[in-house]
Amino acid sequence: MPIPFDNSFAALGSPFNTAQDPDPVKEPSLLKINNGLAQQLGIDPQWLSSQEGLEVLAGNRGAEGSQPVAAAYAGHQFGHFNPQLGDGRAVLLGEVVDQQGHRYDLQLKGSGRTEWSRGGDGRSPLGPVIREYIVSEAMAALGVPSTRALAAVTTGERVMRDGIEPGAILTRVASSHLRVGTLQYFAAREDRQSLATLVSYIIERHYPEKADAENPALALLESVIAAQAQLIARWQLLGFVHGVMNTDNMLLCGETVDYGPCAFMEEYHPETLFSSIDQQGRYAYCNQPGIAHWNLARLAEALLPLINDDTDAAVEQAKKALSQFPLLFENAYQAGLGDKLGLTEITAADSRLADELFAALQEDQADFTLAFRFLADEINPGAAHTGAGRLFAPGKQLLEWLPRWMQRQQADTVDAAERQQRMFAANPAFIPRNHLVQRAIEDGEKGDFALFHRLVERLADAADYRAEDSDLALPAEPQERVMRTFCGT
Ligand code: AMP
Ligand code: MG
Repeated sequence: MPIPFDNSFAALGSPFNTAQDPDPVKEPSLLKINNGLAQQLGIDPQWLSSQEGLEVLAGNRGAEGSQPVAAAYAGHQFGHFNPQLGDGRAVLLGEVVDQQGHRYDLQLKGSGRTEWSRGGDGRSPLGPVIREYIVSEAMAALGVPSTRALAAVTTGERVMRDGIEPGAILTRVASSHLRVGTLQYFAAREDRQSLATLVSYIIERHYPEKADAENPALALLESVIAAQAQLIARWQLLGFVHGVMNTDNMLLCGETVDYGPCAFMEEYHPETLFSSIDQQGRYAYCNQPGIAHWNLARLAEALLPLINDDTDAAVEQAKKALSQFPLLFENAYQAGLGDKLGLTEITAADSRLADELFAALQEDQADFTLAFRFLADEINPGAAHTGAGRLFAPGKQLLEWLPRWMQRQQADTVDAAERQQRMFAANPAFIPRNHLVQRAIEDGEKGDFALFHRLVERLADAADYRAEDSDLALPAEPQERVMRTFCGT
């Protein structure tokens, strides 16, 4: 089998999913194959780029061993519960198990209508496929748990959105696509048996260390709370703004999913928001930890009937688990902040120092990413991988703050060279800047994919600064700035 499928979710059958072949497309053409990821998954990249591979990636040919299904799920969208969402423009081809024994979903996104499509066409324009490929691969390379992009193809068909746009399909890889909304779907139907089936399935697949837990539903809740606390801390530390943190876009495995209107913050400001459909700022940068906590409370509600037959007792147990989230988030965030600032330990005084830094960055309207590279370069401006900091002009407030940090560092136990390397690792020189992603999309729509390929390649190794790619490290000029992003689905 060219793709070594080993399917478990399809075997659960109804009511969890429905058999669904992808819809063939007119004229598929290969845009990109992720060779490294293919190899990790035991798929020959050469086969994947062959005519047969292309036809599988476009949905024009069934792959041996694949059992394509569309999954059921519900979700809270901008705070409002929708009891029926489901895979309306995606099908799960099946799963593969890599050499380390990790199981992954292979999903075609943009592969045509399913029974969950409602009014939608089941397709995806090229723009969102380019965005998701670039940003999800960048996140994975930065060590943030994330779904991945195995391939992108264009369809030779047109889709109607704001105007007519070229169509494309992304092959997405995830530890699984099971969401908070998957459990909500069955909870809303009071289908306790299906809920219990899912809880065992998810524990076995994602949290096998909890296999013997006395209370599986509670153990699952605690595991997802811990995974999301880690994940959201990473987002905050990198300035990543997801944009649509609906409960159907929160994976139980703890990977980032659905790179719709997402963007990285440039000028530091806590209320940074890009999504054009989020008028209230519900999903602004500073709200992300609180929203994650809110989503986890919806997960807890869905699991209540399995946590305890006595509802009051179940609520108490769930509340106790949920109360851990702020602490787990703060621990993960502070640890990451230590790495960002080159400090082995963060004391209460260091937290205040960091708060003052953030205030200074906001006052200076400083670029969040380059500001930290500037600090890292300051340790030893002549060392390898320095240079990104020179693209940054420090503002008045930052220059005032700097001596205090320099002094604080001297008390750290780690030597300067190692401290600098740690800071480089924690503070990328390159991020998928919104104006560059936007330009890659606009170029791609005209058939020019050079910037798309260049960005994917550069962002795979974002910690090492290279002067020849300085144009990819610089923030947007005022006239280049992209303040609004669109789901584009
Ligand atoms: P999202 O906003 O991407 O999380 O999607 C929310 C819901 O809308 C999911 O049920 C999707 O499957 C569905 N959806 C989004 N775009 C389309 C489309 N083009 N055709 C059909 N369903 C869609
Ligand atoms: Mg979604």
